[in-house]
Amino acid sequence: MLHIRNYINGGFHDPVGGEWITNVDPSTGETYSLVARSSAQDVAIAVDAARAAFPSWSALTAQQRSKILLAVSQKIGEHLDDLALAESVDNGKPLWLAKAVDIPRAESNMAFFATEILHTETSAHHTDEHTINYTVRSPLGVVGCISPWNLPLYLFTWKIAPALAAGNTVVAKPSELTPMTAFLLAQICSDAGLPSGVLNIVHGYGHECGAAIVEHPLVKAISFTGGTSTGATIARTAAPMFKKLSLELGGKNPTIVFGDVDVEATAKQVARASFTNQGEICLCGSRIFVDASIYDRFVAALVAEAERFTVGDPLEPTSKMGALVSQAHMEKVLDYIALAQQEGGRILTGGHRITLQGRCAGGFFVAPTLIEGVDTSCRVNQEEIFGPVATVIPFSSEDEALAGANSTMYGLAASVWTNDVSRAHRVAHRLESGIVWVNSWLVRDLRTPFGGVKSSGVGREGGVEALRFFTEPKNICIQF
Ligand code: NAD
Repeated sequence: MLHIRNYINGGFHDPVGGEWITNVDPSTGETYSLVARSSAQDVAIAVDAARAAFPSWSALTAQQRSKILLAVSQKIGEHLDDLALAESVDNGKPLWLAKAVDIPRAESNMAFFATEILHTETSAHHTDEHTINYTVRSPLGVVGCISPWNLPLYLFTWKIAPALAAGNTVVAKPSELTPMTAFLLAQICSDAGLPSGVLNIVHGYGHECGAAIVEHPLVKAISFTGGTSTGATIARTAAPMFKKLSLELGGKNPTIVFGDVDVEATAKQVARASFTNQGEICLCGSRIFVDASIYDRFVAALVAEAERFTVGDPLEPTSKMGALVSQAHMEKVLDYIALAQQEGGRILTGGHRITLQGRCAGGFFVAPTLIEGVDTSCRVNQEEIFGPVATVIPFSSEDEALAGANSTMYGLAASVWTNDVSRAHRVAHRLESGIVWVNSWLVRDLRTPFGGVKSSGVGREGGVEALRFFTEPKNICIQF
C-alpha cells in the first residue's frame, strides 16, 4: 500500500511515531493509501529545516525566487493528468473537474505569485524638506499553512505560493482526508529545484499535527483555510503568541434572484453555483432567495437543472457530480436533510443517498437536493452544510431579501441575479459579504482581495493582500 510520507528538508520521511492514518477513496469506500500521522516531534523537525533554509531563501532576489517558482508551476502543468487523477481519487470529485479547475488553478497560483513579486513596490513619504520615510517589507521567517479537503491542491498552493514568493520558508499541512496531491507536489518541487527545507509538508490530524504547527513558538504566522470552529481554536492558541493570522472560514452563501432575470438561463447558473464540486466549495450558494413574482417558474426550472446534475463514478466524463469526501461527511449532509424535514422543509428534488452499481457501489454519493418551506432562522438556513443541498426561499421586496441574506453569522460570498444595474450596485453594497458576484459565480481574478466578514474569516488572501500578509513592513525615517 502507498505510504504518504512527510516531506522535510528535501526528503521523504516516515512519521517519528511510526503511526499511519488510513486514506479512503470516497467513490469506492475502500482504503487505498496510508497517511503519516505526524506529531509535534515531526513538526519540530520540519520547523528546524525551515529555519535553516530561511537565510539563503530570503536572501535570493525576487527574480531568482520567481524563476524557481515558475519552474514548479510549469511542472504542475506537465503533471496535469496524474495530479488530476490523484485529486479525483482522493477527494471524490469528477476527474474532468480536477483537470479543468483544480490543477490548472494550482499551476496559476504558483505562476501568479512567482510573477507578482517582480512587480511590487514599496512606498516613500516625504514628511518635510528635511525628512523622508521609506517602507521596506521583509519576509516573516517560518510560516505555517493549513488547508482543507475540498479543493486540495488549489488551496494548498494558494497559500504556499505567496508565502514562498515573499521569501518565507514554510511548514504546510494538507487535510488528512486529501493529502495525495500535496505529497506529489513535494517531488515536483524537488525536481523544479526548490532548495531543501524551503517547503516542508507534514501530514496528519488537525488536532495533533495542525495544532503543533500553530503552537510552535518559531512559526511566525498561520494561514488557515477550514471550518469556523477550527479557526476559533487556532485563534485561541495563536493570538496570545502574537502570531499573524489569516483565517478563511465557513460560509452560508446567499444567492438572490430578482424578478427581471431570464428564468431558464439563471436557473442553470444558480444550479451550477449550488452543486459544483458536490456543493463542497466554500463559495457555493446554499440559500436561494427568489422573487415571489417568478418563484414557481424559477423553482421548476431550478429543479430541472438540479436533476441534470448526474451523480456517478468520478472517473466517468458524464458524471457531473462525484462522491462526498468521506462517510462521516456524507452522514452529516444526510442528517441536515433529515433535520430540514423536521423543521418543516419539503424536498423538491434529491434528499437521499445514491448507491451506484459496480466499482462505486460502496461510495459516498448524495443526490443534488433542493428544499423549500424552511424559515431563514432554521438551523438548515443558519449552519453550513457544505454538500449538494440548497434551500429555496421566496421574497417580496429587496429589503426582505437582504434581511434574509444577512441573517447568518457568516459573510463569505453572495451572488445577485438581476438586469437592473442600480439594484445590482445597491444590493451588492448592502450585503454583509467579502465577495459579491453579480450575474456570475466563481469568476476569479487572482489580483482581487479574497475572504469573508463576520464568522467567515479574518484577513484577505489574493494579489497584494497575500504578499502583505506574508511580509512585515518596516518604516525607516531619515532626517537630512
Ligand atoms: P477543518 O477545519 O476540519 O480542517 C481544515 C484543516 O485544518 C485540515 O488540514 C485539518 O487537519 C486542520 N485542523 C483541524 N483542526 C485543527 C487544529 N485544532 N489546529 C490546526 N489545524 C487543524 O475544515 P475541513 O472540513 O477540512 O474543510 C471544510 C471547511 O473549510 C468548511 O467550513 C469550508 O467552508 C471551509 N473552507 C473555507 C474556504 C474559504 O476560503 N473561506 C475555502 C475552502 C473551505
